[in-house]
Amino acid sequence: MNDNHKVFAPLSKRLLQRLALLAVLSILFGSLVHSLLIYRAEQQQFSRLVDQLTANHLPLLQVALWDIEVDALRQQVTMIADREEVATVILSSPTGLHLQAGAAVADDYQADARVAISPPNGGAHALGELQIYYQRERLNKAIVAAVAMRFFELSLFTLLVCLVIFRFLRRDLVRPLNSINRYVAELLPQRHPPRLKLDRPPRPWEDEIDRVAAGFDTLREGIRHYAEQHENALQALETERDSLDSRVAARTRELAFVNGYQELTSRSIQGFMQARPAEYPDYLRRVLQDLAEYLGLDACALLDRRHSRPWVTRVAWFVHDDWPWLERVLTHGCEVSVEEGWSQYFLTGAPNTLLVRFSGREQSFVLAVRTSEEAAGPLQQDMLESSGKWLLSLLQRWDHMADLDSARQELLEMSRSDHLTGLANRRHFDAYKIDEARRALRMGAPVALLMIDVDHFKDFNDLYGHSRGDQCLVALAEQMQWRFKRAADLPARLGGEEFAILLPGYNSLQAQEAAEGLRQSIFDLAITHRGSPFGFVSVSIGCVWWPGQHGQANPVELMNDLVNQADAALYQAKGEGRNRVVYAEFSDLNSPAQNS
Ligand code: GH3
Ligand code: MG
Ligand code: MG
Repeated sequence: MNDNHKVFAPLSKRLLQRLALLAVLSILFGSLVHSLLIYRAEQQQFSRLVDQLTANHLPLLQVALWDIEVDALRQQVTMIADREEVATVILSSPTGLHLQAGAAVADDYQADARVAISPPNGGAHALGELQIYYQRERLNKAIVAAVAMRFFELSLFTLLVCLVIFRFLRRDLVRPLNSINRYVAELLPQRHPPRLKLDRPPRPWEDEIDRVAAGFDTLREGIRHYAEQHENALQALETERDSLDSRVAARTRELAFVNGYQELTSRSIQGFMQARPAEYPDYLRRVLQDLAEYLGLDACALLDRRHSRPWVTRVAWFVHDDWPWLERVLTHGCEVSVEEGWSQYFLTGAPNTLLVRFSGREQSFVLAVRTSEEAAGPLQQDMLESSGKWLLSLLQRWDHMADLDSARQELLEMSRSDHLTGLANRRHFDAYKIDEARRALRMGAPVALLMIDVDHFKDFNDLYGHSRGDQCLVALAEQMQWRFKRAADLPARLGGEEFAILLPGYNSLQAQEAAEGLRQSIFDLAITHRGSPFGFVSVSIGCVWWPGQHGQANPVELMNDLVNQADAALYQAKGEGRNRVVYAEFSDLNSPAQNS
């Protein structure tokens, strides 16, 4: 059941109703009791009156009745009836005498007292009977008066009590309760709830209402405290939510930043792996530029040092060229002594310059950056350290590739050169001469070939030893090297003390002069050779010149013919006495020179 549907019944009204009901019941009950008491008192008084009348009038009545003196009897009867308590008196005798005084009496109305009148001298039977009727109006009046009095008294009392109670209730209970009621209805959990004001005069005591008010004060304090806590918690929650939003946004930005950085890193590393070693410097510069633009740097450089050699700038990138800055990094930044491993420090006197450094036994490395605005934040610093690591690995790859390249170059050199003299070996010569033949055929350019053999070299060895023989060969090779410096000229050692020189682009005269010049210059070295008729080491040279005009199509065949004809010329030079040049122009396969 819903309590809101209950009828409002004020306390005072209900109390007053009950008091009124109680008063009515009290009046009724009191009146009843009072009436009964009056009735009893009246009865006793009547009974005493009857006794008194009997004592006063009975002797006279006995005598008068005995003597039958009617007047006297009437007089007595009238006297009795005159009493105010008596309504009617009837005297009757068996002789038929009937005397009545007072008000008329209804037939069915019984006498209230009956007194038998005996003879004056005593006797067994009565002379007559006296019937006395009580004055009932008097009784009724007395009772009505008493009830009215009681009603009045009690009503007055009740009224006064009600007034007092009503006033007391109103002032001390109903009004405060109404105030409390209104207060409670308006009481909300807020930071400053209003105080409960009962508007009661100051008194030296306190009652239940005061205690209830004090209880509400405590409650209000509690609510205020609760509201304050609630509000604080809400505020904290709100601040937390706001800061959470901004933290999430910041974290998202940070993650996007880190993602971008990782993409940049992997793109750079991948690109570097795919680049050719020759592209490394340019590529690394671009990588530095990308990194600098991403991290907001305006200068960025990679420097390293191998063993105890000086620091070297490997790559640098600037928004605006600032070589003095790089100089400062080299002289003041890199020379700082640090422990082995990775470290970060700022360049003294340049707070915006951060150095990420790796210090190792064999190699040290520095990534130097200058931020464009304030000093790099922790995230940037982390990224710079990680950048330092992968940039170092790129540098190392660069170095390894360079080492590999030079080793390969060296190997190639070795495979192409003669180990004693450093000239091209036969294999290289054979490959080169075909390439040159192909080129010459394509261009229609002339080619000359010199075949050289040291004279009496067996004897030289025998006379001076194999080692001196080697030295001699080296000296001759140097001479050839020195004289034929053009990029296309290729002096080669074909084996033993035999050499060949391919001279693309020489005309006939140039070829002859070159051959003769070489022969003479070797002779002029004046390497003593007691076993030679000339006294010094000499060479014989067969020189063949191909004018380049022939319609020769096969380069291999061309070269074979050229070599064969040069060999023949050399053979001829030997035969003609050595230390000379035999020159011949190339002749085709059917020519007699070819067959000789
Ligand atoms: P000719 O004038 O007819 O050419 O006489 P020759 O002695 O030079 O000719 P031969 O071919 O008989 O001798 C070549 C000698 O070259 C044999 C060998 O002792 C010597 N020789 C070959 N290769 C080397 C080498 O690498 N070092 C040294 N020291 N001598 C070598
Ligand atoms: Mg020989
Ligand atoms: Mg020889």
